[in-house]
Amino acid sequence: MSQTPGTLEQFDLTGRSGLVTGAASGIGLAYAEVLAEAGAKVTLTDVDAVGAEREAKRLRDAGHEARAAGVDVRNLDQVARAFDGHVAAYGGCDVAFANAGLDVGDGFWTPEGDRNPNGQIDVYSKEKWDTSIAINLTGVFHTVREAARVMKANEKKGYRRGGSIVITSSNAAEVNEAIVGVPYMAAKAGVKHFMRHSAYELAAYGIRVNAIAPGPFVTNIGDGWVKKNPAAKKAWDELVPVGRMAETYQIKPLALLLASDAGSYMTGSHVMIDGGMQLGPIKPL
Ligand code: NAD
Repeated sequence: MSQTPGTLEQFDLTGRSGLVTGAASGIGLAYAEVLAEAGAKVTLTDVDAVGAEREAKRLRDAGHEARAAGVDVRNLDQVARAFDGHVAAYGGCDVAFANAGLDVGDGFWTPEGDRNPNGQIDVYSKEKWDTSIAINLTGVFHTVREAARVMKANEKKGYRRGGSIVITSSNAAEVNEAIVGVPYMAAKAGVKHFMRHSAYELAAYGIRVNAIAPGPFVTNIGDGWVKKNPAAKKAWDELVPVGRMAETYQIKPLALLLASDAGSYMTGSHVMIDGGMQLGPIKPL
């Protein structure tokens, strides 16, 4: 008879490994850190290869097993090579965070609350649209595609069966957050439904797929404007029902839940962590 695992034991990732895209900064870096804290070996990938190596070294210096790879998620070959490199280094892959993303800007409203002349649909930049979809949606497809490939192969190679894929979506997948660019919202809504189908298809292989949908977190997104501009930060804090933007450490427990056996019965979920933004901003955007 198999023994029921203890609750905290289910969060333990000792002997496992995970790959994170967009891991040099912000939410992706928090994912890499929590994987390492829970005992996993980690590959940090980012288009900023120097930043990924800087953070991997920081984790190694703290006693964890971590490596880095320069990866632009727009490039399928680079994503595939990163997963192959991870498997070659660590024997298999248990967890993948499809996280890399950015807002190309030009929301309908400026952060100051004025109508943005470049943010209206009839003039919206096609180049910005294409960039946003390529990174935020196609980049997630590339990452999930390659994660599924190596996770399906796990078992045949004598490694553990299955795995967990976690995609970073956004509250903007659900609500019309008209301060971010319209392609960002469209891409994240696409990510949500792509996640749902991936979860459905991959369940038979023991691979779970879920998405984390953050509200406003203090990161370097948008060139870190929220870190550089205290007035903009205050304006954002005042929009959130709980009264403040989030710090990246606050995403770690949810990330670990989904990555580990603690989330073994969760798949196809789009989990909001947004300080109540889904309920509507406290002031109109
Ligand atoms: P961030 O800018 O701090 O980190 C994003 C990382 O992704 C950077 O290191 C960047 O170099 C990397 N990146 C950008 N383009 C890339 C590419 N083409 N290939 C590989 N890496 C690339 O921003 P963040 O806020 O931590 O963003 C992480 C994810 O969280 C994104 O998907 C973003 O849409 C999502 N998100 C953020 C917020 C927020 O408020 N910060 C809210 C909702 C969703």
